[in-house]
Amino acid sequence: MKKIQMVDLISQYGNIKEQVDNAILDVVNSSAYINGPEVKLFQKELEEYLDVKHVIPCANGTDALQIAMMGLGLKPGDEVITATFTYVATAEVIALLGLTPVLVDVDEDTFGLNPEQVRSVITDKTKAIVPVHLFGQCANMDEIMSIAQEHNLFVVEDTAQAIGADYTFDSGKTQKAGTIGDIGTTSFFPSKNLGCYGDGGAIFTNNDDLAKKMRVIANHGQTVRYYHDMIGVNSRLDTIQAAILRCKLPHLNQYIINRQSAASYYDKAFADAKELKVPARDPKSTHVFHQYTLQLADGIDRNALVEYLKSKDVPAMIYYPVALHMQKAYKDDRYSDGSFPVTEKLVSRVFSLPMHTELEDSQLELITSEVKNFINNQ
Ligand SMILES: *Cc1c(COP(=O)(O)O)cnc(C)c1O
Repeated sequence: MKKIQMVDLISQYGNIKEQVDNAILDVVNSSAYINGPEVKLFQKELEEYLDVKHVIPCANGTDALQIAMMGLGLKPGDEVITATFTYVATAEVIALLGLTPVLVDVDEDTFGLNPEQVRSVITDKTKAIVPVHLFGQCANMDEIMSIAQEHNLFVVEDTAQAIGADYTFDSGKTQKAGTIGDIGTTSFFPSKNLGCYGDGGAIFTNNDDLAKKMRVIANHGQTVRYYHDMIGVNSRLDTIQAAILRCKLPHLNQYIINRQSAASYYDKAFADAKELKVPARDPKSTHVFHQYTLQLADGIDRNALVEYLKSKDVPAMIYYPVALHMQKAYKDDRYSDGSFPVTEKLVSRVFSLPMHTELEDSQLELITSEVKNFINNQ
């Protein structure tokens, strides 16, 4: 049996090696390293896949969020609501631009932004909501979009973990994650569901004016070469990365299916383990399983579990061990211990098992039986 990895990028590469190698070599031979034709082609193909009018490729998922905030024309002091249970990038760009991140708690079952909490923190200064589709499942977009409409707020979906997920509204309409709000952002970091072999990211929008503005911002605020109409940034997707992504995009739906079938294996194996809460599925969203994240019952020692698994060559990770409002950089006197009880409970109980597109049944069998061994010996 192959060594179990949290994410097995080598095996995935092995299955598309010839195609990827050729695509990389073609770029190298063409010398069109910056903004080569592959970038535009990938942009078009992703627009088609997502059924969105504009994809703006950029350098990484953090830049995508920053360019989105800049595109909305938000000003220092404007408040942006996001989850305290997320990866740091979401709040980082808000703070970096002098905007005020307003953190709220998440739903205990789905880890999505809690709509009632969002409602409760809206002020005159609130300008935007940033739902994070954490671990691969959409936040409650029915509620979030109606709150945004009611209060005239922008919505920026952080889709770094959920590219390809489908959200079905109460109305019956289905849309891809990241194409619902004013802007969606994603990351092509290698371990993401659609990952390249370095850094990459993209912004999605159906709004022509926003798209135009964000393209200019991503290119030094430049409308005509050497004429700068606004302050921008330098954020490009490398041509080599675009070429790799073009090879991988046609496999994305199969990659999602592979992840979902590993998740079903885990679900079944843990169905009777009352010490483990398997990830809840929101019937309105497909789950593309960037992570398979369980919650441990009271009294189970998480560190001991992770150490035990490690001793059996089974990796496990904690996403995320510290909530944003408890991080040194984001702590402020608006928050204290106990501010966000759900997130504070989650950060002490969650753990994630290996999740990728190449998990074999023998590996899943070992992972699940070792987790159960540990639990049963408590
Ligand atoms: C990975 C990630 C990002 C940042 O993406 P980078 O490409 O690493 O900059 C942002 N938000 C979330 C939720 C992520 O998981």
